[in-house]
Amino acid sequence: MSYLADYDPEVYDIIEKERLRQINGLELIASENVVSKSVLEAVGSIMTNKYAEGYPGKRYYGGCEFHDMVENLARDRLCKLFGAEHANVQAVSGSQANQAVYFAFMKHNDKMMSQDLSQGGHLSHGSPVNITGKWYSVSHYGVDKETEMLDYAQIADQARREKPKMIVCGASAYPRTIDFKAFKEIAEEVGAYCTADIAHIAGLVAAGEHPTSVGVVDFTTTTTHKTLRGPRGGAIMCSDEYAKDIDRSVFPGMQGGPLMHVIAGKAVCFREALTPDFKEYAKQIIKNSQAMANVLIGEGFDLVSGGTDNHLILLDLTNLSENGDHLTGLEAETFLGEAGITVNKNTIPREKLSPFVTSGLRIGTPAVTSRGMKEKEMEQVAVWISRVLKDVCKNRSSKTEIDAVKKEITEFASKFPLYPEVA
Ligand SMILES: *Cc1c(COP(=O)(O)O)cnc(C)c1O
Repeated sequence: MSYLADYDPEVYDIIEKERLRQINGLELIASENVVSKSVLEAVGSIMTNKYAEGYPGKRYYGGCEFHDMVENLARDRLCKLFGAEHANVQAVSGSQANQAVYFAFMKHNDKMMSQDLSQGGHLSHGSPVNITGKWYSVSHYGVDKETEMLDYAQIADQARREKPKMIVCGASAYPRTIDFKAFKEIAEEVGAYCTADIAHIAGLVAAGEHPTSVGVVDFTTTTTHKTLRGPRGGAIMCSDEYAKDIDRSVFPGMQGGPLMHVIAGKAVCFREALTPDFKEYAKQIIKNSQAMANVLIGEGFDLVSGGTDNHLILLDLTNLSENGDHLTGLEAETFLGEAGITVNKNTIPREKLSPFVTSGLRIGTPAVTSRGMKEKEMEQVAVWISRVLKDVCKNRSSKTEIDAVKKEITEFASKFPLYPEVA
């Protein structure tokens, strides 16, 4: 029985349409996932009714005893998951987690160094259009022109020249392993704080499938909704030395009352991530993206950096052209969308087009892996991607492969329900 369907059929119908979209299509957006029913239940719970400004044991409102319990549980589980001394689970998003770290340890116009947005970084790493780029003085590093990977010697040189107060590492569209120890060494040499933003790879790090930043760099920020497969939100980890400053920066520095229903959902997510099943899941995410990468390479596609170590692939479309103009990221995103494959356009190193058009495509496996797909299915998905892109590249108005692939995908997707137990 649905209260919402009775009371507000307009909103109910929209949610129902979205549910069908998620079920019938293939979600290959690298930053998305499918949360468990338990996480959904916690996030949809009455924990949302309460104001709980402050921290467990030190709230500004009465009646917080159970909110204290759930926030303590979330913090303890997150510390256990990553071996952290201190965790703050109140940041409502990854961006706010980053802002809180900057705000705690940098002053207006202090210099930070971070990966360029157009070469895999994130808005909240000092992009000129973001508050972080307007508030701090930013020097960006990119990837090496040849290897399209991070070059730590180049980054070290830049750090020596720029002398930043903080070095930020971590990315949104970087398919390779990040060497957090190298970043920390560079930061130490130039007397900078080091922040690792593991928003994308947190699930892989938690499972031991990517080297950790916790206990290596000074601050680790993350989202909880990407590979970690929890509710939409952020978190920060650090040593006890910095605990007070970080907590104060999140509240009252950045936010008022925390989203306690989401913190309940985070607690559930961290419990799930501590299980052996989750370790298997994280392994499978990588196997899946590598299986897909191999087929795409075999089909003649260019992958930025030539492959992947993690959950995502960055396709370089600049060689995908029949008669001059190459297929853009925007076109590829649109055509694949029509076929039931959801991906996002993405800038690539040495991008010549605007961020609204781009020459690249980011493809990620966390969500389809959550639906139970394995290497065999990923190979099939890669073939579908190849069929659609090659066909529309020849003729932008062709619907032949789009229509054929859409039919095949609808049938295929029905074998991998989002929530098997409710079908
Ligand atoms: C996704 C992401 C974030 C934060 O995203 P929000 O949408 O603000 O939660 C921060 N850093 C990186 C590297 C990301 O990929």
